[in-house]
Amino acid sequence: MSAAADESKILSRAAAPEEAQFERQLRPRSFAEYVGQEEAVASLRVSVAAARQRAECVDHVLLYGPPGLGKTTLAGVIANEMATNLVATSGPAIERGADLMGILTNLSEKDVLFIDEVHRLSRVVEELLYPAMEDFSVNFVIDRGMHARTLKYALRPFTLVAATTRPGMLSAPLRERFGIFQHLDFYSEGELTRIVTRSASILGASIDPGGAAEIARRARGTPRIVNRLLRRVRDYAQVHGDGLIAGAITRDALDREGVDARGLDRLDRRFLGAIVDHYGGGPVGIEAVAATINDEAESLAEMVEPYLLKIGFLVRTPAGRRVSREAYLHLGKQPPAGPGGQGGLFQ
Ligand code: ADP
Repeated sequence: MSAAADESKILSRAAAPEEAQFERQLRPRSFAEYVGQEEAVASLRVSVAAARQRAECVDHVLLYGPPGLGKTTLAGVIANEMATNLVATSGPAIERGADLMGILTNLSEKDVLFIDEVHRLSRVVEELLYPAMEDFSVNFVIDRGMHARTLKYALRPFTLVAATTRPGMLSAPLRERFGIFQHLDFYSEGELTRIVTRSASILGASIDPGGAAEIARRARGTPRIVNRLLRRVRDYAQVHGDGLIAGAITRDALDREGVDARGLDRLDRRFLGAIVDHYGGGPVGIEAVAATINDEAESLAEMVEPYLLKIGFLVRTPAGRRVSREAYLHLGKQPPAGPGGQGGLFQ
């Protein structure tokens, strides 16, 4: 596990294994329960309704966006709304062609196959997936050398819902085989407030509007994090208060966890701090920052950067990443005076 994942467990963008059960409990099961992502939901509702009317399966769907935004949840919703099963796996879990064959040949008609982290499928597995997606068949090669023959095996029609945090890493032939593309973006505070209020009621926790808003504000736009923070604050409020998740006790609990008023954790601050202290605020390449804070460039690009870019603390330039004036102020540091006064480069 990288230092990134280790140190900032509370804000880790991936689900920890012990969270699986908890996440399942809170996962919306229908479009009506799924909060936010209105464009994606509206469009998928139409696709599902049309497929149901024609008694066909939904076109293959590619969902992309940062971790914890509801891609797995949406795959489950599609399966439920189609009244079929969800079979979930992930790119790294399908090691060999035979693994994929096993999964595909066991699917029932109209099932939804969910492949998380689809950009991590091996080449061989990916190539097997092409005919499966295109005309619901797989090709077996039997015998070797001059006797080698290919047998075509028909599959039952299914829908592939694939998710990726790195759409740029998908090969063109794979990308072209999806009929529906949906980008999931960070949630607004209002949406996160609805999610945390709903989750609290499922868990039987008492929360007031001040507590809900505070958790939503510090959840970096991500439902997975809103639910995780809720769990931490619920424990804290039970031990240090009367159990009610109110504004003040929430601030107290999250300050102690190292989650600041904008939802940044220690890793986020270390990342920004490294650019400020070692590279004069940037521009600097992510590899250099990763080496400075002894972390992996890939996990920083996937888990730390997107939200900092979203809130404008980080700016992408052709020469690398630059820390914004607002981020300097948030870190309690003096922004450099640029040529245009007022921080010059800094908008
Ligand atoms: P991803 O697959 O994108 O990493 P998940 O689908 O696993 O994210 O979502 C993480 C958790 O966040 C889920 O357990 C679910 O409870 C919650 N969640 C995600 N999206 C929503 C949503 N739109 N409304 C309510 N809760 C959500």
